[in-house]
This record gives sequence, structure tokens and C-alpha cells, in this order.
Amino acid sequence: MFENLSVTESFKNSITAAIRMSKLSHALIFEGADEATRLSAAKEVAAALVCKGEDKPCKSCNACLKALKDSHPDIHILFKEKDSTMIKVDAVREIKTQALIFPNEGTKSVFIISEAQYMNPQAQNALLKIFEEPSSHVCFILTCTSKSSLLDTVISRATSYTLGEGLASSEKGEDDKAVIIAAELISSLVGESEFDFLKKTASFIKDKKLFREVIERMISFSRDALILQSGGKELLNGEREEVRLLKNRFTQKKTFELTESLKSLSADLDSSANLNLTVTRFSSVLYGIKVN
Ligand SMILES: [Zn+2]
Repeated sequence: MFENLSVTESFKNSITAAIRMSKLSHALIFEGADEATRLSAAKEVAAALVCKGEDKPCKSCNACLKALKDSHPDIHILFKEKDSTMIKVDAVREIKTQALIFPNEGTKSVFIISEAQYMNPQAQNALLKIFEEPSSHVCFILTCTSKSSLLDTVISRATSYTLGEGLASSEKGEDDKAVIIAAELISSLVGESEFDFLKKTASFIKDKKLFREVIERMISFSRDALILQSGGKELLNGEREEVRLLKNRFTQKKTFELTESLKSLSADLDSSANLNLTVTRFSSVLYGIKVN
């Protein structure tokens, strides 16, 4: 199992042992490594759960072949919609409905939630309700960069696995960089100091991945500020200084405008061929919100 994936031996061993003994938890969290590796690993585990062969996944029985072709009726994969920055509560509610139905072909239905860090708190809470009353025929696999982006209540009801230390830490390094820049941008957006986006956004022109990550983080921060402004408590990022600043210095209307503008910039990034132009637009749109 996992022959072609660069995952740690301890992950391989613990998962294969759990599958062999049919002791796999009904909710799994796969963190670390990179996105493609996480998804492939989740798909292999899903194949093992529906496999009708001996050494699961045998990769030769009918169920495995369907699983490998992504066409097994009992394996469901939820991705973030392309034009959205979040996995919304409706998508999770849909899963909740599907999870009540018995499997079509085997004894298990598997629901993979790819990049679960994009689930907003409402979506995570909806998922929690399913986790609390698990059906024996259902297994959930959540993949994410780091489980720290999930609510503690979700983490505590699942079994977590780290797929790759090396890759995880390098990806984390990039995450940290994006978090730092996003925090700086939010602070200078609401701060008294001179609004100097140009210097901070210079690195985006050469690094689309970083730019995307920074926008995602900023959306996440401004969503947290919105949650605080509407009296909510369950934050995606925990207590953060720049979120508190944003909450105090921006009106709810302005924070909402910021969130929506960032979402639209994120969508732009997908379709735009000219990164330079998007970076410029990013600066001017956010400056517009600051001065208005
Ligand atoms: Zn099989």
C-alpha cells in the first residue's frame, strides 16, 4: 500500500495495520505532505475500505478498479468549488444526507473531504454532528495542510495521521511566510502607519502560489473579524492581534466589503494571465476600502 507515495513509514504501518484488523476509525485526518499526496493516500484508503479482495486494496478486484478510476459509487470526494474560497455548510449538509444512505455495492461508504482547512466553522460544526453519531457503514477522511486549521472539537473526534514530516515542514514554512505577510498586510490596512502595500506585495509578482496563500489567509482573518463583529466566538485562526485590530478599526460593513473583495481577487487569480495586473488591482482595491 502507498507504494508510489512519499509518506512516512509510520503512517504506512499504522494505516495498513488498522485496515488489516478492521480497526480504522470512522473519521480520519490526513495532514502534512503535499495536497496531491494527501488526496492519493485518502483514495488508497478508500479503495481498501471498498475492496473485495484479500490484501486490501488488492487493486485488481472490480471495486478497486472502480475506486482507481474515481467511479466507485460508494466513494465520494468533496472539493472546494473552484470559484469559492471556502467549503460551505451546504456541501457538508449534502454529505450528511448521503451518509444516511446505505452503501450501494459494499459495506462502507467513504467520504473524502479534500483540503478540509477550507471548511468554514459552520461547515465544520455540521460535520461534527455526523461525527457524534457515526454510522458503522461510513468513514470520513479529511485531508488538510495542518489539522491546526480545524476546530478542536473536530480533531478530538477523529484519528489524525501525519503523512510526511519533511514535506509537511517545508509546506508549513511556506504557510508561515504567507501568514506573516497576510498579518502584516491586514495590520497596515487598518493601522495608522503609512500604507505601503507595494513593498510588501513585490514578492507576489514572482510567486503566484504565495500570493494565493496570502489572499486565502487574509480572507480567513477578515472572516474571523466578521465573526467577532457579529458576536461569534468560534474563530478559524484563534486569537490574533491583527484580527482584533480589524474588528476594532473597521465597521462590520467595511470588513464584509474587504472579505468579498478578497474573494473576488482570489477568483481573478485563477483566470488572470497577467499576475502583475492582479497584484496592482489587489493594492488599489484594498487601498480603496481603507480610505472610504
Ligand atoms: Zn480490491
